[in-house]
Amino acid sequence: MKLVKNDLIKAFSLYEEKALKHRRFKHATILQLLDCEKISRRFSVTEIGKSVEDRSIFRLTYGNGPTKLLLWSQMHGDEPTATMALFDLFNFFNGEADGFAEFRQEIASKLTLHFIPMLNPDGAERYQRRTAMDVDMNRDARATATVEGALLKEQAALIKPDFAFNLHNQNNYYNIPGTPTPVAISLLAPAYDYARNINLVRANAMRVIVGIHEKLQEFIPGAVAKYDDEHTPRGFGDNFQQWGISTILIESGACVGDSEKLEIRKCNFVALLHAFAEIASTAYLAHDVVDYERIPFNDEKLHDVVIRNLSIVKNEKTMLVDVAVRQSEKTVGSDYYVEGVIEDIGDLQDFYGYQDVDVKGMQFIPAKSYTDQLSVEEVSLPLVATLLKKGFGTVRIAGEALRGQRHDYPINIILGNHPRAAESAILALGGAANFFIGTEQELRYAVINGYWLDLKEQLSGQKYKNIIY
Ligand SMILES: [Zn+2]
Repeated sequence: MKLVKNDLIKAFSLYEEKALKHRRFKHATILQLLDCEKISRRFSVTEIGKSVEDRSIFRLTYGNGPTKLLLWSQMHGDEPTATMALFDLFNFFNGEADGFAEFRQEIASKLTLHFIPMLNPDGAERYQRRTAMDVDMNRDARATATVEGALLKEQAALIKPDFAFNLHNQNNYYNIPGTPTPVAISLLAPAYDYARNINLVRANAMRVIVGIHEKLQEFIPGAVAKYDDEHTPRGFGDNFQQWGISTILIESGACVGDSEKLEIRKCNFVALLHAFAEIASTAYLAHDVVDYERIPFNDEKLHDVVIRNLSIVKNEKTMLVDVAVRQSEKTVGSDYYVEGVIEDIGDLQDFYGYQDVDVKGMQFIPAKSYTDQLSVEEVSLPLVATLLKKGFGTVRIAGEALRGQRHDYPINIILGNHPRAAESAILALGGAANFFIGTEQELRYAVINGYWLDLKEQLSGQKYKNIIY
C-alpha cells in the first residue's frame, strides 16, 4: 500500500504530537508522553539504560516483520526536530479508524521498527550538542567512552538491524548551491571508508534516499540536499554502514519563518513514513544510485542578514562593502536569547541573506546611546520606536538585579556603563551587530542585535529575543 501526498498530509495533521510545539522540550516532557497508556497500545516500550545523569533512555518497538530498522534521534541534545517527528509517528502507529489500518498492518508484518528517541537526554536538558561529559557522541562510535554511545552500539549488536536512521539537525546556513533557498532536509548514506566506495549495503541506503528525496520534492521542491560525504571514522553513521547496516542520515535544516522547525518536523514524518513503506514493499530496490549522486550537496552560503553596497568611511576613506550578520542562540533555562554579530565584511556577491537588502547610496551610521537613565517601566514599544528613529540603539536603565534578564524590545538595554554601548558604535568583524543605515538626511534602516528593522514600517509585535546587559 502506498501513501500519496494527501494521505501523508492527513496522517500528519491527525497525529502531530501537540505536547511538542517548541524546540526546547526536555526529558521530563517525553517521559510524560511515554508514561501514557496510549503509547503502549501497539508499541513495546523498554528502558535500555540511563544517561550519565540517570535519565532513562527508551526503545520503542512496533511490528514483528523480518526486516529490522533501528532509528535514533537527538544524540546531539540541541537537535530535537526528529524527536518531535518520532512522537508523531508513535501516535500514527497507535491510531485507528482513520483509513490507515491496512498500511499499519503491512508495515507491522514486513518490518520491525525500533526507535530510540532522545539518545542524549542530558544534552537536551542543557540544549547543548554534547553529553553531560562534554563528549560529542557522534565522534564516539569507535571509542564508545560515553554510556549513551555504548548503549546505541549495544542495541545495534542486539537488534542486528538491516537499516538504520541517524536523525540530526544541521545549522540554518546551508543553501541549495547557487540559490538563496535554505536546505530544509539533507540526506546522506555515510561512507564506510575514505575512498567512499559503494557496496550493496551503502547502495541500498542510497536507494532508500532516492525514494525519500522524490517524495520530499512534493512537499519542499528544490529544498533537499546531500550532506557532506567525507568519511568520519569516529561517526556512528559511518560505523553502522561499516557494520553492514544500510544507514541513512537525515539532517533537519531550515525553512524561512519556521523557527521552531514544525514544517521540518513534518518533512521528517513524511520522509520516514515513506521510507518505511518503500522498505516494506521493497520498492526502494527499483531506485537508481545514479539519482542519489544527482542530489546536490549542501552549500553553506546563507546568513541571517546580508546588506549590500553599504558605504562605510574610515580614516576619511570611503568604501562600498557588503556586510553579513548572523544571530546565534544562547540558552537560558528553557528559553534563549540571541547574539547578533558581524559575520563578514567585503564582497558577498555569492552569499545570500534570509534578509537580503541592497542599500546602495546609503551609509553606515553608528548607533548612539541615549544618555538619560530610564526605569525599566519607562521602556515601551512606542518609546523604542521614537528612539530608533532618532538613531539611538542603546538605552540605560537602573536596577542591577535586572542584568541578564530577557526582554522583547528591538533596542539594546544596558545597566550603567556596559561596554556594549561603545562596541555598538563601530562596524567590526565579530563585533555586535548594532548600527543604522541611511543618508545624511534620513535614517532608513536599523540593525539591532542582528535584527533587521525598516524604520519606515511600524514596529511589529514580534518578540525580539534580547537580554539586558
Ligand atoms: Zn547532529
